[in-house]
Amino acid sequence: MDIHFHNTASGKKERFTPIDPNNVRMYACGPTVYDYVHIGNGRSFTTFDQVYRLLRRVYGADHVTYVRNITDIDDKIIARSVERAIPTEQLTNETASYFKQDMTGLGLLEPSHQPRATEFLPQMIKMIERLIEKNNAYEQENHVLFDVRSYSDYGKFSRRSLDELIAGARVDIASYKRDPMDFVLWKPSEGDEPGWDSPWGFGRPGWHTECSCMSETLLGDTFDLHAGGSDLIFPHHQNEIAQSTCAHDGATMANTWIHGGMLQVEGDKMSKSLGNFRTVNDLLCEWPSEAIRLHLISSHYRQQMNFSYDGIREAKHILDRWYRLTENESDVGEDEIPNPVLSAAVDDLNIPQALTEMHKLAGGEDVRGLKASAQFLGLMQQTAEEWAAWRPADLDIDETKIEALIAARKQARANKDFTRADEIRDELQAMNIELKDSAEGTTWTIAS
Ligand SMILES: [Zn+2]
Repeated sequence: MDIHFHNTASGKKERFTPIDPNNVRMYACGPTVYDYVHIGNGRSFTTFDQVYRLLRRVYGADHVTYVRNITDIDDKIIARSVERAIPTEQLTNETASYFKQDMTGLGLLEPSHQPRATEFLPQMIKMIERLIEKNNAYEQENHVLFDVRSYSDYGKFSRRSLDELIAGARVDIASYKRDPMDFVLWKPSEGDEPGWDSPWGFGRPGWHTECSCMSETLLGDTFDLHAGGSDLIFPHHQNEIAQSTCAHDGATMANTWIHGGMLQVEGDKMSKSLGNFRTVNDLLCEWPSEAIRLHLISSHYRQQMNFSYDGIREAKHILDRWYRLTENESDVGEDEIPNPVLSAAVDDLNIPQALTEMHKLAGGEDVRGLKASAQFLGLMQQTAEEWAAWRPADLDIDETKIEALIAARKQARANKDFTRADEIRDELQAMNIELKDSAEGTTWTIAS
């Protein structure tokens, strides 16, 4: 069965043809580990997991290599570790383990490799040396920069000309850059900042270099599929392509590029200041994980999705029904997935269509087909009894979260957004927290 994907590189839906069907190679840009991941990240990684499941279904589970990296060196990590007064390594180990828990919680399969950027310093230094040798990069003031003018296709992938990009650049141009769009391959580390010895002094790699090196080492110069969120098309993926193509004498980095759409929460852009920032970890305490997953995959992966509590609630009702319908069925095999479901999945991962087909199966007689399809989507991984026994996580007082919610409510009231202020009060009430407002401010207690 042929798979078709919308390929960002060509802008078209194309037949997916792996270089070696016995080893289909896929890379997804993983998290930068300094905090809990939010539900938008959760959606992206669930999409890539669904792609991985599809490739395994079509080419065989042993014939797919999936690399999802962990970025464990980055300015955001350094800033957070200074803020918390802990070593970067402690911060990245802690948050990488939260990330793994969250991904397991959402029912994601473990990728074949989860490399950490800091394990690839020798390879990164080598790649940077190669780019300097080929005149695609230059050293200036202890920085190494990629020379975008040396790569004539720069901007092609992200469909912007270099001149347009320069005109749109609002950043102050650093003195060490020849061209405003030149990007950092290596930068100096100062004071207590983490770093490594290199031919250009003590420093650290740029983010884009990390992915180019990890994919080169684990998947080769050219591989089949590269995935990421649509916010990574420019500059991250454009820059990965520039580096890898130049380092590999013009070889294509990845034949197919797929990008997931962004996520809103209850119709708004998610942001900490709006108080609608949702981490995967929080949601997994409040809702059954499969309900979250079903809600996440119910919009087409390339579309923007609106994440909502109503959506999770609806997904939970659907799963309640499916578990009831199939409770007496014995184990099903993946060869029992009915054709219409699989046909939808191979058509640019049209999961909404697959779900429509599954509702038909639920309404008809084929409950085994329904169960096999649900399992292919990472759902119905438990028994009907386990599903029915689910309860929200025991009340675990998270003072930081409570204080943050109280602050967000105060802000909402100051903005005269009383609807939002009431919502926050309700949310706290659901956490068994009672508020008391007085002239001195707001205090809270645990409701008895
Ligand atoms: Zn990347």
